[in-house]
Amino acid sequence: MATVETPRARARRFANETRLGLVRRARKTDRILQETYPDAHCELNFQNPFQLLVATVLSAQTTDKSVNLVTPTLFAAYPAPEDLAAADPEKVEAILKPTGFYRAKTKSVIGLSAALRDRFGGEVPGRLADLVTLPGVGRKTANVVLGNAFGVPGITVDTHFGRLVRRFGWTEETDPVKVESVVAGLFPPKDWTMLSHRLIWHGRRICHARRPACGVCPLAKLCPSYGEGPIDAKTARKLVRDRSFA
Ligand code: SF4
Repeated sequence: MATVETPRARARRFANETRLGLVRRARKTDRILQETYPDAHCELNFQNPFQLLVATVLSAQTTDKSVNLVTPTLFAAYPAPEDLAAADPEKVEAILKPTGFYRAKTKSVIGLSAALRDRFGGEVPGRLADLVTLPGVGRKTANVVLGNAFGVPGITVDTHFGRLVRRFGWTEETDPVKVESVVAGLFPPKDWTMLSHRLIWHGRRICHARRPACGVCPLAKLCPSYGEGPIDAKTARKLVRDRSFA
């Protein structure tokens, strides 16, 4: 009769993993995620780099869905950096209110639009070093824009990405820049952007912060944290956000 591996025994099994073993497991994990989420993509709607930059700044502390609800109105009223830079803050605040922290976000998007107008000829720069000089734009936002609007490989370490790579045992780092560096060493650059989407999708749908749906997770055999959430399939299935995955 087959024995069931306990979470503790599983953790022990991964404890002595070699570097090569880690790289192989990480890449196999990504292959399974590719099969699970063949349509993974940036869930923010955008038509050009400027729109993606603004949408990504607005996505802080809120869902992509709520950003997608306000951006059509925002970009219809202010289609270019010059327009948003010259906007009346109160009018922008009224549009951005549903996304939360709307005063700070209004300040950021007007400020970054003014910087694009004044320092970059009204164009979004395609270099990380330039992007991070814009108000409200950090490495995470810059990598989203580079990867999705410019085709430059980038790893997006958001809350889902950081949580998952630690659960996977790819790293114990909590600093996003260090996490980015460790994960970059496990995959070729061509995989970085899509890997980010796939991990974020998995974090949103199955490997939740509070109760990951381990019992229906396609990564169960490869994950040292299996058992952190319910392993009973019936219970786990109820936790999945999009049931077509389980
Ligand atoms: S087994 Fe559990 S902790 Fe590991 S990736 Fe799947 S849902 Fe997350």
